[in-house]
Amino acid sequence: MIIKNGRVVTPQGILEDCTLKLEDGKIAELYAKEWDVAETVIDAEGAYLCPGFVDIHTHGGGGGDFMDAEDEAFDAALGFHSRYGTTSLLATSVTAPPEQICEMLSFVRKYKEKEHPICRVMGAHIEGPYISYKNKGAQHERFLRVPAKDSYDFILDNSDVIRTVTIAPELEGAEQMTKDLVAAGIVVCGGHDDGEKAKIMPVLEAGLSHCTHLWCAMSTVAMRDGVRSVGLCELGLTDDRLTVEIIADNHHITSDMMKLIFKCKGATGMCVVSDSLRAGGMPIGDTLYSLGTKKDPNAQKFIVSDGVARLPDGSRLAGSIQPVSQMVKNLVQDAGIPLWNAVTCGSLTPAKVVGIDHLVGSIEVGKLADICIMDEGLNVIKTITGGKLVYERERING
Ligand SMILES: [Zn+2]
Repeated sequence: MIIKNGRVVTPQGILEDCTLKLEDGKIAELYAKEWDVAETVIDAEGAYLCPGFVDIHTHGGGGGDFMDAEDEAFDAALGFHSRYGTTSLLATSVTAPPEQICEMLSFVRKYKEKEHPICRVMGAHIEGPYISYKNKGAQHERFLRVPAKDSYDFILDNSDVIRTVTIAPELEGAEQMTKDLVAAGIVVCGGHDDGEKAKIMPVLEAGLSHCTHLWCAMSTVAMRDGVRSVGLCELGLTDDRLTVEIIADNHHITSDMMKLIFKCKGATGMCVVSDSLRAGGMPIGDTLYSLGTKKDPNAQKFIVSDGVARLPDGSRLAGSIQPVSQMVKNLVQDAGIPLWNAVTCGSLTPAKVVGIDHLVGSIEVGKLADICIMDEGLNVIKTITGGKLVYERERING
């Protein structure tokens, strides 16, 4: 495939007037001069060619939740993400009994091996059950666990597909768990916590390297023992050993907070994640959705109102309904962050965080041909995964 007349968005800036040559599912050339007459040619007409987005924290979309653990749900979620330019993701669990999480992991393993996916399942992010009672967010408290008391063998046993695990660093046993997970090649993220510096630092020394959705269900500045002191959020902002992720949907955090985080971390330290629920991409209505598997009648329920998912009583945000590309647009249009930096936050930086940047995350010769074509207003026109067109926006004017 050839994509001509494109403006390639790189981490350093924009390359004008590129002609991409995609071969064997990979990017072969950025300035192709000649090609076979039989080659498919896409005229980008001056649109932006962004790397396919990499979403390292999503629960689903299009009506499906990965915890449903069935083909239909996975296909629906992957369809939603690919329509919005995401070409790689980590399927994310919720707090649930280990057997339920393992059921999801068996589908992650199956989808990870799929040839010619519309959106790649690169592994799983385990969010809970080793999180704080106070900052559990929308997660179900019945299934919370403590590393010192409850086995985390099911995580180590599935380290072939688990790439990241979110834990609350103040929990008893979190330091040892972090050491064990890091030794198994898993990225340990701090989040859904009620920590303080004295309890977080040993876990940071043990290998904690990423913060899950900054400012959402996370410890922050507070009076502790008569002194105002930082929480995990501020440690994430100031410690260069930590990367951070943000839900840049203008509901979980505002554009002012996006600016502040970007000022502290830059494009190489800040990832945009959708944290999207099954309601992502669904028609707006009065539907009562379930968070986690629909097979569990006791699963936490949520509604969508005013462009975000909330618990039915409105007391808490439950997750987002926006894909990464919409959040990249928010970073540019609402927070004034340069386009190439915003795109990096949604592609190369998350790819680096989970160790897949040798494959995806930027438009470079030799990487997989995963591309999101966006118009001037930063809306997705086409998505290409592995050199194949998997989504094309309908032309309004023929
Ligand atoms: Zn989440």
